[in-house]
Amino acid sequence: MSVKEGQLFILSAPSGTGKTTILKRVMANVTNLGFSISHTTRAPRKGEQNGVDYHFVTVAEFQTMRENNLFLEWAEVHGNFYGTSRPAVLELLESGQDIILDIDVQGAAIIATDATVHGVSVFVAPPSLSELEKRLRGRGTDTNETIELRLNNAAKEMDATESYDYLVINDDLEEAVSTLQSVIIAERSHGHRLPTGEPIQLKGDGKK
Ligand code: ADP
Ligand code: 5GP
Repeated sequence: MSVKEGQLFILSAPSGTGKTTILKRVMANVTNLGFSISHTTRAPRKGEQNGVDYHFVTVAEFQTMRENNLFLEWAEVHGNFYGTSRPAVLELLESGQDIILDIDVQGAAIIATDATVHGVSVFVAPPSLSELEKRLRGRGTDTNETIELRLNNAAKEMDATESYDYLVINDDLEEAVSTLQSVIIAERSHGHRLPTGEPIQLKGDGKK
């Protein structure tokens, strides 16, 4: 990554862990951080807006994008297709903007083997599977069948934890938000940038 290019962050978590909740807070607090809006064939949940939460597309539209190589990564997750737009992400990174992707473990593995992008990956885990079930049921947006499917997949997804750069446990929400923000700021510092995401301009002090 050159200093001028933005940093790509990848966030994964079993469904219901609280990733969307954490992300909304982090996006409100951290400057120069953009969110990549994925394409999905899943139906919108109550309150979700097209072009804000996701680009909601048909299976045919998704397949056309796939055939035109427009996805940086895509995967079938819990019975629906999800994908990240390659041109949208690359354009923002090249403009110097940091981008965060909310994608599943399959998508994260694809990006990890892509030589054209370097992502810093963060896995968000629930404190336990029973707490995860409580959160999925408490959210009240999914049918029993969908919840069962997501819980079954969660156990498998947790096996991927080791391959991520960072692990955040979402037990206490504030702590999880603060840890993720710290990771972003540390990575900016590692890339010789300010916590705000801007490049550091080292000024001479006038002495020879
Ligand atoms: P995800 O995006 O990972 O699928 P959500 O952000 O939709 O998950 O969160 C799932 C549910 O869990 C929501 O009802 C949310 O309010 C709740 N939740 C999120 N974080 C916590 C937390 N730390 N403690 C308790 N409940 C939480
Ligand atoms: P949900 O249907 O709950 O919004 O998301 C289900 C899962 O799909 C989550 O694990 C989420 O991270 C993942 N997901 C969302 N967008 C993408 C994407 O563009 N690519 C991949 N691979 N997964 C995605």
